[in-house]
Order: sequence, then structure tokens, then C-alpha cells
Amino acid sequence: MNDAVLSPPPIGHAGGPKVLLEVFGCQMNKLDAELMVSALKRAGYDFTDRDEEAAAVLLVTCAIRDQAEHRVHSHLGELSVLKRSHPDLALGVLGCQAQRQGQELLSRWPALDFVAGTRDFPKVARMLDEVRADRTRLIALEGDPETVSEERDVTVRPHRGRAFVNVMRGCDKRCTYCVVPNTRGVEVSRPMADVIAEIDQLVDDGVVEVTLLGQTVNAWGRREDRSLGELLHRLEELPGLHRVRFITSHPEEMDDRLVDAMAACRKSGLFLHLPPQSGSDSVLRRMARGYTVERYDEILVSLRERIPGIEIGADIIVGFPGETDEDFEGTRRLMERSRFSQAYVFRYSPRPGTPAFGRMDDDVPDAVKRERLAALNALQNRLMLERHRGLIGSRHEVLVEGASRKDPRRLFGRNLAFDRLVFEGDPDVEGRFIEVEVTDVTALTLSGHAVSEVRSAPASPAPAAV
Ligand code: SF4
Repeated sequence: MNDAVLSPPPIGHAGGPKVLLEVFGCQMNKLDAELMVSALKRAGYDFTDRDEEAAAVLLVTCAIRDQAEHRVHSHLGELSVLKRSHPDLALGVLGCQAQRQGQELLSRWPALDFVAGTRDFPKVARMLDEVRADRTRLIALEGDPETVSEERDVTVRPHRGRAFVNVMRGCDKRCTYCVVPNTRGVEVSRPMADVIAEIDQLVDDGVVEVTLLGQTVNAWGRREDRSLGELLHRLEELPGLHRVRFITSHPEEMDDRLVDAMAACRKSGLFLHLPPQSGSDSVLRRMARGYTVERYDEILVSLRERIPGIEIGADIIVGFPGETDEDFEGTRRLMERSRFSQAYVFRYSPRPGTPAFGRMDDDVPDAVKRERLAALNALQNRLMLERHRGLIGSRHEVLVEGASRKDPRRLFGRNLAFDRLVFEGDPDVEGRFIEVEVTDVTALTLSGHAVSEVRSAPASPAPAAV
């Protein structure tokens, strides 16, 4: 789970009516937006990052937390005002919040023209055409839960050397705090051949790192008795591709085939995002996570034995219904001994459409949730700082992602363990691998300087911006 964020706006292409596409939420939403850019371009649309020149504003939304949905509602308030002076402006809400709130959104916002759910993205260009031509209001929430259609123009992506690839959609788990099975539907894996073909094209276009996306990505292929490990082996053999990441993994789905593949495949790196969510068995039971704290510990021990240097990323929820001081202490201890290289801690909030909603009492006072959140964040900061201090003087192969957001005169990239590195270097090396020596650290970031170029990405034109 990621916090809701607004993505950088898309940049324009010469052509037809201009669309402003705004993206809230997780990486999967960002990839959905990329796919949508392809579809809208094919339908003759152009893009802008300025609402005053847009013919349409489309919001790709997130439903994971209240806060994310509130932001979309307040943005719709602003857009409704804008529409008074631009009556031809078409407004669409797409994705998870559209799936969850559907008709309610249309009723609450008379300025809104259409909503399309998570399985209806292929219809968006057509819906937008219809709305602009007839000024009708449309809703599409049916989709086709059994197919995963990915029509992608591989040249449309925001990064030169990196790309995200959907390998599955939906989720068959029923974690009691989570709205995803409701908004994204049942789990469907894409066939291996489709995934490989898409990655092949991306690599031909200059991509050196792919991140495979799925809500429970390590369950990929299980209905066909396949393992994500097989896919990792296939990608290991693909020339030109240097790194393969995959998010998010579920502890219940970790199996030997996958761990064997991770140990054998050099490209899959030294990082695994494996959210424990809690360090209390009774909380895990109420969350319906399907594993115990002991099992989670065993998985980490086995991963660290088999893959020396592997780092683990975590998500943790505090203040789940019924979480006692003792339960919380269990989570604190789990965090202390697991020594995650990164961890996102969230306060539980009841969400309509989740199994816990209306059935479990949200009985942990907000002040206690905030205290627990602050305590875990402080602990995690201390652990990260300790780990980072141990890395001063070490050298890392870093894939350069671009300029640092905080200091655009410096570069930003990540090593095989997914650590964040900021360093001095030539700005023209985006998408290349640079060896960086760490000279200074904070809890969040390693800083240093470029030592040498390790290898170049294949020569290719810069991709069209998204
Ligand atoms: S595994 Fe659980 S938390 Fe993750 S998407 Fe599925 S239901 Fe939600």
C-alpha cells in the first residue's frame, strides 16, 4: 500500500483536444494512467498539465484510505468551480474510488460527466468521446473480471530506463481492513508469454529495470501451478534487462520455488517488500492474514540465509480493532528484530466495503493510534540510521533515476537493495548504472559521489513523457 500522492502532470504531445490526467495512489494507478495515455493518444487526444487549457480532466483515484478519497472530493469541488467558466470541460473519475462510490459520485457532483471503474479503463477514450459529443453522463463499473487486457504503447512511459509491468490484477485474499478485493476484483494472472512479450518490447526501447506489479505478486500463476520464480528465471535470460523487481509480496504466498529463484537470479536483486502488518497473532487472525508471527520470522530467517545481503521492506498497521498494549508491543518487537530497510506505518481507519467495516469496533482511540504510529516511526528511523551508518565508505551499483527532488543539482538513484542514494554526478546519465561511494547518511538516504560508470543502458531515444 502506498500513501496517496498526486503524480507529476503529463506533458503535452501535438494533436487533438487536450486531457489533463491526474493520478492519486499507488504504483498500479500510475501504470494504469500510462496505459490510459496510450489509449487516449490512439484516440487522437493530446495532453496538458494546465487545467485552464484542458478539454477534459480525468482523475485516476485511490480508495485505500479516507484521506485519498477526501482529496479527490475536494479537487472535484475546485473543478466544479472551474467548469462554471469552462462549461465544455469534461470531467471523469476513474479507478478504485470510482469503482467504490460510482453513482454516489455522480449524484454528489453534478459537474462530473463520467465514472469508470478499475476494469473499465479500455472504455475511457470512447466514454470521453461520447461525453464531449452528447454531453451525456456515463457510468461503467462492470468491466470483465476474468481478463487482464494490457494494450500498451511501450514508448509512452515516464522513465528512460525503468518501467512497471502489470503481471496480475485483483486479489483473492480477504484481509479484513482492505478494500482492494472490492475495487479491483478477483485475482487474475497474465499469461507468461504476454508478460515476456511486453518486457521484450520495453527492453528494445531502452528499459533496463522492470518492476512487476501485483497486489499479491508472489501468487502470480498459482492457478496454473506456476510460480513467480519461473518468470524470474525467464527474465534472467533476457539480454539487455539488468534488474527485475516485484511488488507486493504476501507472506502466505512465499514458497521455496520463489526463494530458490531469487537466490539463483542475479537480476532480482537484494530487496523484498513483504508486509507483516502486525506482530501479534491475535491481530493477524482478526486481519485474516493467514500466517503467524512465528511463520513470518521463519520466512525472514530463510530469506536471509539463502540470499545474503537481502533487505526487507514492510507495511504495518497500528490501532487495528482490539489491538491491546501487549499486541502493539509484539509489533514493536517484530520491527526491532526484523530490522527492515524501510517500513511504512499506517493508522487503521475503518473503510466501507471492507470485511471489518461495521463488524469490528474501531475501539483504539485516535490518540493511542497516533502515539503508536509515532513510536514505530521513531524506532524505524533509529534502525535505518544505524544501518545506513554502517554503509559509509561502501560502494554501490546505482541505477540513475534522474535529478534529486530536494536538490535538483544532484542525482537520485537506487542500488540493488533499493536504498535511496543521492550523489554528485553528470546529469546526463539517467537510466545508466553508476558506481557510487557513500560518504554521508541520514535515516532515509545515503549520499555520496559517482566513482565510475558501470555499464550503459542500450542507446535509445528518450521515451514520450507521461
Ligand atoms: S493481500 Fe490483503 S491487503 Fe493485499 S490487496 Fe489483497 S486483501 Fe488487500
